[in-house]
Amino acid sequence: MKHIVIIGGGIAGIETASALTDTGHWVTVIEKEAQVGGKLNNWSCLFPTFTPAEKIIDELQDKCRNKDFSILNKTEVRTIHRQNGKFSIETSNDHKLEADAIVVATGYELFDARRKEEYGYKIYDHVITSADLEELFKTGNDITVAEGKHPKRIAFVHCVGSRDEKSGNHYCSKVCCITSVKQAIELKKRLPEAEIYCFYMDLRMYGKHFEELYREAQEKYDIQFIRGRLSEASEKINKSLLIKSEDTLSGRPLKMNVDLLILLAGMEAGKGTAAASETCGIGCEESGFLKTTDSFLKSNFSEQEGIFLAGSCTAPMSVNDTILHARSAAMEVNGWLRSH
Ligand code: SF4
Repeated sequence: MKHIVIIGGGIAGIETASALTDTGHWVTVIEKEAQVGGKLNNWSCLFPTFTPAEKIIDELQDKCRNKDFSILNKTEVRTIHRQNGKFSIETSNDHKLEADAIVVATGYELFDARRKEEYGYKIYDHVITSADLEELFKTGNDITVAEGKHPKRIAFVHCVGSRDEKSGNHYCSKVCCITSVKQAIELKKRLPEAEIYCFYMDLRMYGKHFEELYREAQEKYDIQFIRGRLSEASEKINKSLLIKSEDTLSGRPLKMNVDLLILLAGMEAGKGTAAASETCGIGCEESGFLKTTDSFLKSNFSEQEGIFLAGSCTAPMSVNDTILHARSAAMEVNGWLRSH
């Protein structure tokens, strides 16, 4: 029986672990948080089906219960050395492990919207991120603005920290367009009187049922999509926000007063992935995501033999794509171990 160590206990890590134990291997997952599931723990429901995130977490936890793999919570990898074809791993709480293969599944981090100062996140009261909104949905808290009133006009801003020269992230985060459609529909269901606007650069509805949901948002929920990049937001004395943009379809400048501004923060590689790159001796792309040997046939292979990659540590990915990438990582690890 071979032993595989997986760094990261988010969806990618758990799915890879589960698939690898099915093929008869022994797996240890190293997770820095107290619980598995990663960012999914903070999410309310998932596009395009509005499936509760809790359902996916429960299924992941069932996989942990019913499978024979161990999880080291609140643990981080300190060093990795390779000797005689095996990996020796030392952790932050002095565990010493030997592994035949390693899978890096460190996930992503959300772009810190404070870096886009012009939008006023954490400066103005009623500027929040899509992650903050998701938390409001999850807790079931009422969505209110000044004087405890419901917002009458709400705007979403796409591509915050993605496709953006200033923040240094040139790539598309892939999932935020459809996240805004999903969240706008949820908001409209809760606040039927509210006007909702989405300011986008391009709409990327690449997945199954995404385009249909986008149409439904317009036709059934009357959500307005405006092509234009917001230049700035400023707070007025009554705590509403004045936003400035250009309608790039009509070529006209646009000013609008809104009560709530929601920033669709993109995905970044994050500190966990940078640390894994260093301890494992594997390279990153310019974007900070981990470099795969090949985008087509070897998207789970790192530059180091025996170290594999799973999920959004390699690129922005949806939950569906992460699960599929994790399963393919397990298959590649299994194939590699059998040939060594
Ligand atoms: S998915 Fe949409 S909002 Fe997100 S970075 Fe790409 S174009 Fe922008």
